[in-house]
Amino acid sequence: MIIVMQPGTSTVEIEQISEEIRRLNIMPEISLGSHKTVIGLIGDTSELDPRQIQNLSHSIEQVLRVKKPFKRASLEFRYGEPSDVVVPTPNGPVTFGQNSPLVVVAGPCSVENEEMIVETALAVKAAGAQFLRGGAYKPRTSPYAFQGHGESALGLLAKAREVTGLGIITEVMDTADLDKVAEVADVVQIGARNMQNFSLLKKVGAAGKPVLLKRGLSATIEDWLMSAEYILAAGNPNVILCERGIRTFDKQYTRNTLDISAIPVLRTLTHLPIMMDPSHATGKSEFVQSMAMASIAAGTDSLMIEVHPNPAKALSDGPQSLTIEAFEQFMQEIAPLGRYFGRWTQNHSTTATPKFAPKVSSIAHI
Ligand code: PEP
Ligand code: MN
Repeated sequence: MIIVMQPGTSTVEIEQISEEIRRLNIMPEISLGSHKTVIGLIGDTSELDPRQIQNLSHSIEQVLRVKKPFKRASLEFRYGEPSDVVVPTPNGPVTFGQNSPLVVVAGPCSVENEEMIVETALAVKAAGAQFLRGGAYKPRTSPYAFQGHGESALGLLAKAREVTGLGIITEVMDTADLDKVAEVADVVQIGARNMQNFSLLKKVGAAGKPVLLKRGLSATIEDWLMSAEYILAAGNPNVILCERGIRTFDKQYTRNTLDISAIPVLRTLTHLPIMMDPSHATGKSEFVQSMAMASIAAGTDSLMIEVHPNPAKALSDGPQSLTIEAFEQFMQEIAPLGRYFGRWTQNHSTTATPKFAPKVSSIAHI
């Protein structure tokens, strides 16, 4: 249930109403939107009569029941107002949200060594990315595949952050590593395979760092939003949803299927910001740009792109990684679309010199 306050209601009055709500053994959660202030009622509200709440104050405009099973994640919970996730980084705060410029997150699948991570970080920054991604702990299908360098790779990410000022996004797989990961990461990633690891979700919810929640390989939109609800319910409002492709039946030509429709569907259901990851979705570098452009056109708030200085030698996900040169070109080619949709700014600095090489998706790959 939510209480929508009339515009201009004083904070004193909101506090008085909140106090009444607490007396009913329900927790009030206040969201200050740019248009409305909403008090969310957390707890068992099934026995509450909305008219009883309405009568608490003349400043209450409306009392509404949230019908979705995901309460805090629902659009209704914020009375239709999108939320922003603002992440402090050494280069300044970066906002993920519907009214902000597109945030570009780029970097290798895995952090392999200091030279490659620093080189990639400098290059993606110069091409206009705001965040460096890179895995220290890798969720691999095979136990014999490279598992990530773990703690030492976290140190290398810290180094790349220091050199470039970029924000860091890296994955946590195990609750035991959370403190170490959260020390380096500006945004903690929950990978697709852990989307329903509920104890991990509770822990990242309590850890306080913004969270990037990737969609599970076969998760429905509702499963995904219920997982976001775990993090929000643990007290962390800063959740970004990342669509990274779902399992369909074709494994031959694409790794997964990027669910572009997730963007407009999520917009009807949730206030949370959205990221799209065409790298893990397609599994092939030549398809990344077209899916990124489709994602921008469909209204994504952010993109995650895998970039590696030498994809042929990458320890994981080489086939889907763009080279540094291809990423520079990619940024130049998506820029006009970003501008068209009003999601591109001066901050997407392009110090890279224009290249007139073939497009990433060129027929040269045939
Ligand atoms: C990754 O981001 O490198 C990764 C493993 O992603 P996902 O969980 O989407 O497979
Ligand atoms: Mn990867």
